[in-house]
Amino acid sequence: MVACWRYLRSSRRVLGFVFVASVIWLLLDMAALRLSIGDATSHLMAAKVIRDRELVATRKEKVTQLMDESVANQVIRDRELVGTRQEKVTQLMDESVANQDQDFDEEDEKSNPQPVKLYRLRKKGGKAGNDQQVQPKLVVNKPANLSLDHTPLLETFLVKKDSIALNRPDFKDTIIEFVKTAGNTSIQEFKEELPVKERPINQIEDVPAQGPPNTSSTKEETPIGAMLTNDSKIVHVKDSGSIKAGVHQVLSLDMTASPRDPNGVGQFGQAVVVPSEQDAQVKKRWNEGYFNVYLSEQIPVDRAIPDTRPKICASNVVHDDLPSTSVIFCFVDEVWSTLLRSVHSVLNRSPPHLLKEIILVDDFSQKAYLKDQLDKYMADLPKVRVIHLKERQGLIRARMAGAAVAEGEVLTFLDSHVECNVGWLEPLLERIYVDRGKVACPVIEVISDEDLSYKLVDNFQRGIFNWPLVFGWKALSDEYVKKNYLTAADPIRCPVMAGGLFSIDKTYFYELGAYDPGLEVWGGENMEISFKVWMCGGEIEIIPCSRVGHIFRGQNPYTFPKDRRKTVERNLARVAEVWLDEYKDLFYGHGYHHLLDSDVMDVGDLSQQVKLRERLHCKSFKWYLDNVYPELEAPLVKAEGLVFNQGLRRCLGMQDGVLFFDKCNLTHQSQHFNYTWLQQVRQQQRCLEHSFKQSSLSVEPCNRTRSAQRWLHKSSKSKLPEHLIVETGSKLACLEAAPKFRILRLAPCNADNPFQQWQFTHYHAE
Ligand code: UDP
Ligand code: MN
Repeated sequence: MVACWRYLRSSRRVLGFVFVASVIWLLLDMAALRLSIGDATSHLMAAKVIRDRELVATRKEKVTQLMDESVANQVIRDRELVGTRQEKVTQLMDESVANQDQDFDEEDEKSNPQPVKLYRLRKKGGKAGNDQQVQPKLVVNKPANLSLDHTPLLETFLVKKDSIALNRPDFKDTIIEFVKTAGNTSIQEFKEELPVKERPINQIEDVPAQGPPNTSSTKEETPIGAMLTNDSKIVHVKDSGSIKAGVHQVLSLDMTASPRDPNGVGQFGQAVVVPSEQDAQVKKRWNEGYFNVYLSEQIPVDRAIPDTRPKICASNVVHDDLPSTSVIFCFVDEVWSTLLRSVHSVLNRSPPHLLKEIILVDDFSQKAYLKDQLDKYMADLPKVRVIHLKERQGLIRARMAGAAVAEGEVLTFLDSHVECNVGWLEPLLERIYVDRGKVACPVIEVISDEDLSYKLVDNFQRGIFNWPLVFGWKALSDEYVKKNYLTAADPIRCPVMAGGLFSIDKTYFYELGAYDPGLEVWGGENMEISFKVWMCGGEIEIIPCSRVGHIFRGQNPYTFPKDRRKTVERNLARVAEVWLDEYKDLFYGHGYHHLLDSDVMDVGDLSQQVKLRERLHCKSFKWYLDNVYPELEAPLVKAEGLVFNQGLRRCLGMQDGVLFFDKCNLTHQSQHFNYTWLQQVRQQQRCLEHSFKQSSLSVEPCNRTRSAQRWLHKSSKSKLPEHLIVETGSKLACLEAAPKFRILRLAPCNADNPFQQWQFTHYHAE
């Protein structure tokens, strides 16, 4: 029993021990479980946070990317060929060059697809400014046959190591490519530096006329496939010529790179100081061209000039099948040496296959040397044609005469005192190739009128205008350049072009109705074509990789059949009437009020121009200002709101043609007036009119041609800025609130009389 009891006691202890142990175990287990749950949760949480952060980060990245893309949208579009795509193309070109002798394998391209951005493909024969969004297929062909199979020409492309123009390794490569393609000259032969050909300038042979290679106009459009449209119609896909186009590096051809006479006067575009003992001769000849004509005559007509392009330009690529161009020079009494230098600069620095012809339009010059002598000289240059107009047409119609006979696909207009720089042409044609609605202008560099040096101009300049349609240059701000990631080679959109130098697709030029033939002699035509291009669907760009020097003169060296000032004013008024809509008041309002007087100015018939604008469905001038030139200040009225009289301390009112004074109240429409650009004090269609003779005032329907409705106010020229002044001849009178009767009257102006001082609520312009 005792043994049994002992056994039980010890087993109770054991049991107790087991019990206590299991309780402790349970507690520990629970604690561990809690810990591990907490741990897992925190792990899960952390993972979630990380994932979320990652998500946020990628989203943010994506958003930034999208934002960047949208900000840089314009730039990307503009750079489609010279930027990203160029890299791909260069890369592919390298491959293609490496595999020179192997056929291009399309499979390679498929297996290694290149992202290509949407770009605007030029559409032949389409409506003005019609875009076609296409996904181009990048197919790199062997360099296209550029018809450079005339070895004599190649021999004249002088490759001079130390020349600025050609001191680029890529140039030789490009030429070698051409030679290979032409198959006439061995690479080894060509790598040798070629001797300079000594030839008197008037015997320079021109390149035999060559048809442009594979240009879309000469190529038959053959169906290359068929596809189904959304409504299940079969359409044939034609080879427009642009999709399959190959590309090459811009040709930096320059036949003057190793000049015949390196020590020639003004050679390499250097400044020349004429010795002071020859000052009299300089002076004597100056007025022939309003520049240093005496010095110009001593400078070789084929002088070399520095390659002023931004560095990256020489490595840009352009399409092999660019359109050909007719270069049109119009001139009246141009100086012989500058005319010749202009022509030779085109011949010497343009790829021959792209230069269809040079057309010289003599606008009825009076100088004898511009007749037979010119014809004889140009007869030795097969690409040059001279047209002598039978009567003076003026620059605008002379250009149209040139365009009418032009055979190239693109018209390139140039002034007759320019020097085209290395590689000037292809970048212009490339832009038109990309989109035939683009009008491409070179950067206009400066040839000094005094020392005839060739001067590089700053980058990022664009053509703008100020009121009253005065052309000017304005640099894009650093901020804009940075924000849009502009590089020195990117095309710059231009509200207006300078006018003298540009390339335009010939068919597009005619679709736009060419120039207004009613524009006389010179002036305003650059505004006309600029507004027309932008408002009717096109674009104007300055192409920094294309550079042409121009002699800017202080005066026009030719006569204006009518008064110069009047001719230009009339031209501008025509442009304003056709294109400016309600903004034409700003043109007249900036010093051209007198043009509105019908007895002073007859702008001629505008019906054809107005019809043209309707036919082309061109956008409004407001659209142009909002979208193309938002920087321009263009408030539609000069001032508006209440018209407060200082002396009376009341406001002017008008109801049913009756004028009165009342307590000022902005909510009363009867107290609302505009002070317009035409100097009218206006309420809707009614204007305040004076009769100077009778010294009376009345309310009349507004009429822009009536000077009796013009009141001078806040004019910077006036000594009485607060007054409302009328002017007849030399007499002045001022609008006055008669204190006693609270009526309006005209009175002799008195600077200190507060009853003659007026204030509008808002002033938008001085
Ligand atoms: N021009 C012309 N007929 C004229 C007036 C000008 O053919 O009635 C030519 C002129 O010889 C020049 C071009 O048009 O080649 C532009 O004129 P200009 O150089 O005087 O203009 P700017 O460069 O001063 O704007
Ligand atoms: Mn000029």
